[in-house]
Amino acid sequence: MKIIEGQEFDVIVAGAGCAGFCAAVQAGRAGLNVALFEHFAMPGGTMTVLGSNSIDQFNNPHRPRGDRMVIAGIGWEFVEELARRGFADIPDMDAPYRVHWQYGVRVNPIAAAQCMDDFLLAANVRLFYRQGVVAVETSDTPGGTSLDAVIVTTKAGLVRHRAKIFIDCTGDGDLCAWSGAEFQIADSPQPGTMRLYPCATTSDQQALAEADRAWRAMLAKRPELSNFLLCGGDITGFLRAGGDNTNHVNGLNAADSASRGKAEIEARRAQVALMSALRAAEAPVNILGSAPESGARESRRILGDVVMTGEEYLAKTVYPDAICYTYWFIDIHRENGPSEIVYLRDELTPTISLGAMRPRGLKNVYVAGRCVSSDRANNSAIRVKASCMAMGQAAGAAAAQAIRQGTTDTRAVDTAAVVRYLKEQGAIVPEPQDRPGAGN
Ligand SMILES: Cc1cc2nc3c(=O)[nH]c(=O)nc-3n(C[C@H](O)[C@H](O)[C@H](O)COP(=O)(O)OP(=O)(O)OC[C@H]3O[C@@H](n4cnc5c(N)ncnc54)[C@H](O)[C@@H]3O)c2cc1C
Repeated sequence: MKIIEGQEFDVIVAGAGCAGFCAAVQAGRAGLNVALFEHFAMPGGTMTVLGSNSIDQFNNPHRPRGDRMVIAGIGWEFVEELARRGFADIPDMDAPYRVHWQYGVRVNPIAAAQCMDDFLLAANVRLFYRQGVVAVETSDTPGGTSLDAVIVTTKAGLVRHRAKIFIDCTGDGDLCAWSGAEFQIADSPQPGTMRLYPCATTSDQQALAEADRAWRAMLAKRPELSNFLLCGGDITGFLRAGGDNTNHVNGLNAADSASRGKAEIEARRAQVALMSALRAAEAPVNILGSAPESGARESRRILGDVVMTGEEYLAKTVYPDAICYTYWFIDIHRENGPSEIVYLRDELTPTISLGAMRPRGLKNVYVAGRCVSSDRANNSAIRVKASCMAMGQAAGAAAAQAIRQGTTDTRAVDTAAVVRYLKEQGAIVPEPQDRPGAGN
């Protein structure tokens, strides 16, 4: 098959979700020649296209007031800019703690994607939307497998692009897996969710309360519907959440196209069943639209030099090469039944290791975002968006340091220099006194 020769870049980022966005902006701001390839026609991934529009969590609410932010950098700059434009609600990060998600920054997906375009273009990132990576070309080198080129789909046909360093932010770890990196994936990954966008057809509180009663009566007769309306379990909760986290889509393996196809058919069937039930209950609700596909909570976890574990997360381990903080809770969704949850309850904060972003056996590749090297429990926490943003920025900074050092070997990169650079760029990096081996 004929492949058209494309271009050569310093850095290619694959996937423009929260992680890829920050990776590309950071590498672009470092003055590198950066390309960002994205399967969808817009940036944001799960946050925009798939409609999961809450960004958690930038703070550790158990730290002293005024010192609660644990993630900043490009992710925080982005939400502040979006808030200035009127399209993000930033809660008070110092508010007394009730539940983790009260600190989520809600964004408008359309404006968020457009703001991401602005950040990316201002950083001189070359944008290749609707140009998904479909294959990789590799070679064996003494330092491990080198990823030499990616093949992307375009309307002109397949195009080959080369780079010195690649950052895999595809959520599914496509580039790493196709280059031969080891990975893990659960036999039965956590359920996904296909978002619906509802709107109320009345503002009459009595009518809404009546709708809740009618819905609960319907649920008593049709227990299968209890898989819906996760947020609040009733019509008013569903409307208040704007349809976020509406349902559980079981059997979704995002790394297996056939499985995904089947699960999406079931997800659509279930959504129409919900709409019919809402109609039968005469609920004052219109469904305006749906995300085009289900969001995946769990996919491939690429194995890196370090595999971060759930035990380490709960022990708030500061890795020797910690590159950013991460904050959420262990949050494993189950197909049938409540999620497995373990909250963090003190001022200590877990971290992400740079070694977890270096896929074993690959020489010139970083991986960032929800497919980073981690066990299942750790991954259920570090997958949240602010953490993905911090990882992405760190990967972009590490790629910039590699190019500065004139190397394509990620293991030769000076971690201390990456840390210094990230701090200059406004990121929060765990301090030396928090690291093992530091004096007390
Ligand atoms: C239903 C649901 C609810 C959630 N709720 C919350 C919440 O309330 N708060 C929170 O903070 N987090 C939440 N999360 C988790 C969080 O949203 C995601 O883990 C996070 O957004 C992942 O970011 P990412 O950049 O790693 O991946 P993604 O957002 O998945 O981005 C990956 C991007 O790569 C692209 N891509 C994939 N393959 C290729 C390819 N081969 N070539 C080119 N591009 C490719 C995709 O199109 C996508 O744009 C939720 C997740 C889900 C699914």
